[in-house]
Amino acid sequence: AAQQETHGFQTEVKQLLSLMIHSLYSNKEIFLRELVSNAADAADKLRFRALENDSLYEDDGDLRVRISVDKEAGTVTVSDNGIGMNREDVISNLGTIAKSGTKDFFSKLSGDSAKDSQLIGQFGVGFYSAFIVADKVVVRTRAAGAPSDEAVEWISDGEGEFTITSINKPSRGTEIVLHLRDDEKEFADDWRLRSIVNKYSDHISIPVEMYKEEVPERDGPDGEKIPGEPAHWEAVNKATALWTREKSEISDEEYKEFYKHISHDFADPLSWAHNKVEGKTEYTSLLYIPSKAPFDMWNRDQNHGLKLYVQRVFIMDDAEQFMPTYLRFVKGLLDSNDLPLNVSREILQDNKITQALRQGCTKRVLSMLEKMAKNDAEKYQSFWNEFGNVLKEGPAEDFSNKEKIAGLLRFTSTHGESEAQTISLADYIGRMKEGQDKIYYVTADSYQAAKNSPHLEIFRKKGIEVLLMGERIDEWLMSHLTEFDEKSFQSIAKGDLDLGDMDDEETKKAKEEAEKEIEGVLERVKAALGDKVEDVKFTHRLTDSPAVIVADENGMTTQMMKLMQAAGQ
Ligand code: ADP
Ligand code: MG
Repeated sequence: AAQQETHGFQTEVKQLLSLMIHSLYSNKEIFLRELVSNAADAADKLRFRALENDSLYEDDGDLRVRISVDKEAGTVTVSDNGIGMNREDVISNLGTIAKSGTKDFFSKLSGDSAKDSQLIGQFGVGFYSAFIVADKVVVRTRAAGAPSDEAVEWISDGEGEFTITSINKPSRGTEIVLHLRDDEKEFADDWRLRSIVNKYSDHISIPVEMYKEEVPERDGPDGEKIPGEPAHWEAVNKATALWTREKSEISDEEYKEFYKHISHDFADPLSWAHNKVEGKTEYTSLLYIPSKAPFDMWNRDQNHGLKLYVQRVFIMDDAEQFMPTYLRFVKGLLDSNDLPLNVSREILQDNKITQALRQGCTKRVLSMLEKMAKNDAEKYQSFWNEFGNVLKEGPAEDFSNKEKIAGLLRFTSTHGESEAQTISLADYIGRMKEGQDKIYYVTADSYQAAKNSPHLEIFRKKGIEVLLMGERIDEWLMSHLTEFDEKSFQSIAKGDLDLGDMDDEETKKAKEEAEKEIEGVLERVKAALGDKVEDVKFTHRLTDSPAVIVADENGMTTQMMKLMQAAGQ
């Protein structure tokens, strides 16, 4: 007898399953999208592996997915002739969730299904979505190149366990049989499935086939014979790689569905850019900005980067060489005509073509964001709220695009009342006072602390706007951002800032007199503080506070010192 083993799902899988079934009831049909998406990935992986080992095709090189229905049995079957899985693959892929940060993610769930269903969107549902419509799922699979008796059968009712059995499977690839729940039998219908494929999977680059029954020969209206058709498998999608098609022929819906396929995201993207570049380097890029930050964006091991194709052959996922780190939220693909098919991560690492592609893709993303900021401020704001703090890493990382990136930054300032970061540097410059030649800012531990900084007093008095920065990253940002639009940045916590240049004669005189009145105070304070400070000076910058500590013009601000201390420097 075949040896059968029972395994328990990883705890997080159980949580995902119950959450999914309860929160996706209005969107059940996406199970088919997920299974077809996986089949297409499996075809991509096989093609890639076959570049080195042709025999993996086993004389069956026409890669496709097939969907069939058995009305009587109440089953839907999705089968592919892709890469397949061996026993270990099955146990880990269909029993655990291989995403970093999964535990954290599930610990955030509240038990309130409305809130949680929002979260699940970010997480992506994948294979397990089969259990939305099925109360039993059978997977039969054989890895490309493995003998037919080394195939595996996986069965589960989605409750907590699955069984694994060795089986014989002559055909390569994976077959998934969904036993539909009693109230989901509507899916056991050819037309229904066809329309779901058209809606979600038209962009899949391999054929998605459904079985067409024989059409008998029949009589026409004038007694002539109309020829019949034998039964056959028929592609119900376009089956061309979406990015190779003309932009004008691709609908927004198709772009959105394609995004979900390559990003494994569940929500629509915020924006995209599709470009064909010809000339010295030839490539096509299709780059997307997600609408929501992934739950693990701040996780350092999180996968990011583009899907890489070379001459339409899939090469690898998460090729991070083509996107700078500060744009790590971008999803999409790159199809190069210049890289060799046998390109590896090592080859990409140090490569002229890589450099050119990276520069090209970076420019595309930045100009997509510029356009969005210009044409749809609300959309841009929602981008900024999700990814602004990542973009702030840009000026430090990407010297050549510093000015462009700075133009995309958004801040809070003394001009507004709200904590929302909505003010651009162009806005600020437009409001600069006569005689003002610097962009003033203050960094602190929080927005509140920045807003209450004693350094602000003189600026309030003179009605000069100051950017308020209370994020951790801001100090780092400002240490790399020296000017914008030819105006330099000035921390109001640094140096000798009493804005004297902007005084009229009368004010200057009044100040001199005020200083005379308290002559001697400076010496006494200096003596008292000793070498705890570098210097003690008069200032006219304060209105309410008696004294303030400032950093040396060339030194670190107190905020930077705190950061360095926290980092153990
Ligand atoms: P994702 O597609 O985001 O990786 P899924 O839950 O959809 O997550 O699938 C989990 C994993 O199971 C896939 O990454 C893949 O390794 C494997 N898998 C699923 N379906 C297939 C298939 N048809 N052929 C080969 N492997 C598959
Ligand atoms: Mg998937």
